[in-house]
Amino acid sequence: MVSNPIPEEVLMNEALIQDLQEVVRGAALLLSCRLDYTVLGSNADVVSYAPFTLFPTPVPRDLFEQALQVQTHFNLLVDRISQDAEFLERALASTIEVDDFTARLFSIYRQVLKEGCSQSLALGLNRSDYMLDSGKDGGTSLKQIEINTIAASFGGLSSRTPIVHRHVLKVAGLLDVEKKILDNNPAAGLAKAIAKAWELYGSERAVVMFLVENVQVNIYDHRYVENELWNRNIAVIRRRFADVYKGGFLDQDKRLFVDGREVAIVYFRNGYMPQNYTEQGAHLAGTKKVQQELTRPGVLERFFPDNPTAVAQIRATFTGLYTLDMGEEGDRTVAMALANPEHFVLKPQREGGGNNIYGGEICQVLDKARGSPDRTAYILMDKVQPQATKNYLLRSGCAVKLSSCLSELGVFGAYIRQDKRMVLNECAGHLLRTKSAEHSDGGVAAGVAVLDNPLIV
Ligand code: ADP
Ligand code: MG
Ligand code: MG
Repeated sequence: MVSNPIPEEVLMNEALIQDLQEVVRGAALLLSCRLDYTVLGSNADVVSYAPFTLFPTPVPRDLFEQALQVQTHFNLLVDRISQDAEFLERALASTIEVDDFTARLFSIYRQVLKEGCSQSLALGLNRSDYMLDSGKDGGTSLKQIEINTIAASFGGLSSRTPIVHRHVLKVAGLLDVEKKILDNNPAAGLAKAIAKAWELYGSERAVVMFLVENVQVNIYDHRYVENELWNRNIAVIRRRFADVYKGGFLDQDKRLFVDGREVAIVYFRNGYMPQNYTEQGAHLAGTKKVQQELTRPGVLERFFPDNPTAVAQIRATFTGLYTLDMGEEGDRTVAMALANPEHFVLKPQREGGGNNIYGGEICQVLDKARGSPDRTAYILMDKVQPQATKNYLLRSGCAVKLSSCLSELGVFGAYIRQDKRMVLNECAGHLLRTKSAEHSDGGVAAGVAVLDNPLIV
């Protein structure tokens, strides 16, 4: 049982809670911890604060450190998977048959392999997410929910969230507790990797292009990373898919030019949903199907043939993941899920929150797909059962009430590979997101989770 350093008398002090809400709103707005809807090129200047917890949430030090320590291994794993066409082809074979989106991404990957990759540099910015499972044996353990290998967000805003909660704790008179909030600066860590890759690309004139959504919900999050680059005199342009389609071309050496400017790096902050693409990205290594295949005996060893420590550290974060491929093994998964649906999560190959299936609905979906390969679009995962913490969730325009909350810890990773050599492999910082326990799914952008900070206990 993790105890909360925020005392009950503070949590229940109505007048104080009222004051602290103002502190959060003010501090978040001052720091541009904002979430809003901006249409690129429009003059939208009405903003609101990003959703926040009123108080930070306790996270045990050992599990927090475990998450940071395993990140460089996950970076290597993602990089190695992304280059292992044979593994990807096998792991995703059944998914590709029924999931058109993954199939199309895979065909882009094949095309690139066929034409030969002219780029010797690879930059990876990812975020591995965890929940602290207090399910089975009374102990608490770190369990990976997923890894995001494209458009992993909140590195920018989470670089400022410590300031907001430190302020709250000071006003609440909890000076000792305030010291338990760690510094955090993923924006600097991500920008450092982008800047290093830009330097290795080796053209002073070349720019970094952020590939962004049409309606940008989270532009201030981008801005922190973007500003770090401008501070290094690296020019950043922001473009949508349609802009690149219209104004982009590859020269004979396959250098990318957009609106006449050479692009050294494309930073994908979009491109993870089918509706982002028209007919014309690779995040195959981050699919849930690959995540499930990695839990099979011997698969991690394929990627770390001479590093059993890395294998053990990665594997320790895995919870049960089960295939729904056609055949006996998949049939067993279905039977197991139908017998105890509340113990599992059914996941399609999608990102962005709100796509997973829980409880009774799992039975509906699996019943409907009975005997058909449609079920192979999904994987099944053990439901992680974190301990709930009492907190207040603040969101612009919503009533504030004491809620039972669940948190998800994210760890940012950055790497650069040049040919076969890793030139940078780092853990770039962390993120804590918290949601009311009544919601099974959904991130910050989906309007469910809010920004938080770990309070190291
Ligand atoms: P996405 O790529 O859409 O973010 P996730 O795998 O992160 O997909 O699932 C979305 C949300 O669903 C998570 O943020 C978490 O709240 C919840 N969730 C996902 N998997 C599990 C699990 N195994 N146990 C408990 N909750 C889960
Ligand atoms: Mg995801
Ligand atoms: Mg997620």
